Amino acid sequence: MAILLGCIADDFTGGTDLAGMLVKAGMRTVQMIGVPREPVGDGIDAVVVALKSRTSPAGEAVEESLAALRWLREAGCRQFYFKYCSTFDSTPKGNIGPVAEALMRALGADFTIACPAFPVNGRTIYKGHLFVGDILLSDSGMKNHPLTPMTDANLVRFLQTQIEGKAGLVDHAVVSKGADAIRERFARLKAEGCNFAVPDAITNDDLMAIGEACADMPLVTAGSGIALGLPQNFRKLGLLPENLAADALPPTGGLRAVIAGSCSIATQGQVAVMREKHPAFNIDPLELARGRDMAGEALAWAKGKVEKAPVLFYATAAPEAVKAAQARLGAEKAGHLVENALAAIAQGLIAQGVGQMIVAGGETAGAVVKALGVTGLRIGPEIDPGVPWTTAITGNADETPLALALKSGNFGAPDFFLKAWDRLGNG
Ligand code: ADP
Repeated sequence: MAILLGCIADDFTGGTDLAGMLVKAGMRTVQMIGVPREPVGDGIDAVVVALKSRTSPAGEAVEESLAALRWLREAGCRQFYFKYCSTFDSTPKGNIGPVAEALMRALGADFTIACPAFPVNGRTIYKGHLFVGDILLSDSGMKNHPLTPMTDANLVRFLQTQIEGKAGLVDHAVVSKGADAIRERFARLKAEGCNFAVPDAITNDDLMAIGEACADMPLVTAGSGIALGLPQNFRKLGLLPENLAADALPPTGGLRAVIAGSCSIATQGQVAVMREKHPAFNIDPLELARGRDMAGEALAWAKGKVEKAPVLFYATAAPEAVKAAQARLGAEKAGHLVENALAAIAQGLIAQGVGQMIVAGGETAGAVVKALGVTGLRIGPEIDPGVPWTTAITGNADETPLALALKSGNFGAPDFFLKAWDRLGNG
């Protein structure tokens, strides 16, 4: 069966977030890292192509997004979804407006929505104004963001600065009446010359109604919230089975290891909990800078241990130690030394028979994924909010799948590294 929903996410963690939402909503989903070269396998309902286009120059973001769209169209997707941040991270120059309009042109679409709302995470839209928790976006910490400072919470007005067309509001009074009323309002806005509707959304019910009203749109642009409301449209058409175990992964086996390169508070706690019960090897950036082959030492150390129980490799350190290393080496060099060592350890561990691996830290995960030649991830069951198990797509379909859990530094409960294995349910 062809892929139903083709998504383009403007950053990696945003892509993961969307992919997780789609799985929860009952779609079997893979996340591809960058524009893919190969087709994905069968039995997939949604593909998320994760780009790094949020803060690149608008022209580059457009080109990359169009390349992703071409691939998704070739994969046979029926509907397309441009995913951006729920705080609408962008500048008056873009990239949300220019990318959305370029995708619309390519698809021959004359109307879409712009809806970053995600009520369960405190992102609501009322009278076109985006709230973060109880305060306006422009009063939130986002006003000081180093790359995309958000100083206007009025999404209709702000989007208008980024687009060539025209944006209009779908007021909550309309949204609360349901999908038919929203569709009518879309038609009216279109007649008034708008190509974008900004719908208010305060609750998940609002998102469901908006999602239903978008059933016939070639392109939807939104945060990940609308992902709740789209799968029902495919079910109604008989294209998506009810009660699909969308998070079921192919069986993985092999040995177990954790690689932690994050120094975030949550990861510090998780490392401390795992160290009490499992063998653990510390990677020190100052030793790496002296030229010590800590990756080689770590892999030799692991032999005889990793066969018995999960082992931990960590560079995770308290803020004082991180600052000291950075003062000696520079933050970037310290980071790269650590990332390279952890990536080499990950590679060596696969050779030693590791088949289930947790990686903590966004940059660290990026380095590991690159070293392992991972081009995509099939999204499986969630371990803690925002962190699913996945299986790696490597372009070599003959390999036994590698289970990977890529954890953002600050995500997960203190016992994350201990309990995660149970969620795999095999191996
Ligand atoms: P997070 O998701 O918590 O931000 P990242 O992996 O994205 O984690 O970033 C952590 C960065 O800190 C990485 O570049 C990593 O290599 C670096 N790092 C890890 N341990 C140390 C350390 N002990 N000293 C200096 N830098 C470190």
